[in-house]
Amino acid sequence: MVAADTRRFAVHASESASRAVVRIEHLSRVYRQDSLAVRALDDIDLEIDEGDFAVLVGPSGSGKTTLLNMIGGLDSPTEGRIWLAGTEIGGMGKGELSALRLRHIGFVFQEFNLIPVLSALENVEFVMLLQGVPTADRRDRSLALMKELGLEGLEHRRPAELSGGQQQRVAVARAIAAQPSIVLLDEPTANLDSKAGAALMDLMRRLNQQRGTTFIFSTHDPMVVERARRVIRLRDGRIEADERRT
Ligand code: ADP
Ligand code: MG
Repeated sequence: MVAADTRRFAVHASESASRAVVRIEHLSRVYRQDSLAVRALDDIDLEIDEGDFAVLVGPSGSGKTTLLNMIGGLDSPTEGRIWLAGTEIGGMGKGELSALRLRHIGFVFQEFNLIPVLSALENVEFVMLLQGVPTADRRDRSLALMKELGLEGLEHRRPAELSGGQQQRVAVARAIAAQPSIVLLDEPTANLDSKAGAALMDLMRRLNQQRGTTFIFSTHDPMVVERARRVIRLRDGRIEADERRT
């Protein structure tokens, strides 16, 4: 309790000098189903700094997906405030929020969400297409990234013609290619074997170190937790611990 209050004070005190990509204050999310109310997030205070490589851990139902959705602007708070790259997203119009999300957020969902009628390469290019990146640039960046992710030779396959692990890497390539400020991944290794999972983590860590891209991922996987630089533990919608590793 004392530690949380101290941190909250520190957040305000350093406001102008803050390098936070994401800032969250008193965030709660209550889901109502029939007469039942579930407090999925309960008074969360959190800052994600530029260059963080952070993992959200906690039992199933502890609020990991809800928190990622909030940070990604896909769901809105019942109470509290969220800033993304210095801009408060509460009260933003739909169009304004999509534009902000397009520029700053890369999202890798648990179920990949690839577009089935597009090839792997076209899927990777898709976010850049929306961003208005010129065709040649788009193609070069996508091909290079796919190669780096071990997807060379699979560029023209449709998602249905790829394994789960390959689809996952296409989704990661799509999220990263657009060079967002922050990449959010919900259980990124859940559908990968341990070798592919480790390779994915190593690639993300390389991007984190070389480009300074900020990553937040949720997981149950000890291998992922081991590789994180910051471990945020959730329980019943609250932050139970927040530990940085040097
Ligand atoms: P985690 O990802 O850690 O497993 P979630 O964020 O998915 O946890 O869920 C947190 C809590 O909120 C759970 O009790 C879950 O049942 C509830 N919840 C999540 N999304 C919804 C929703 N759309 N409607 C109702 N309840 C939800
Ligand atoms: Mg989840």
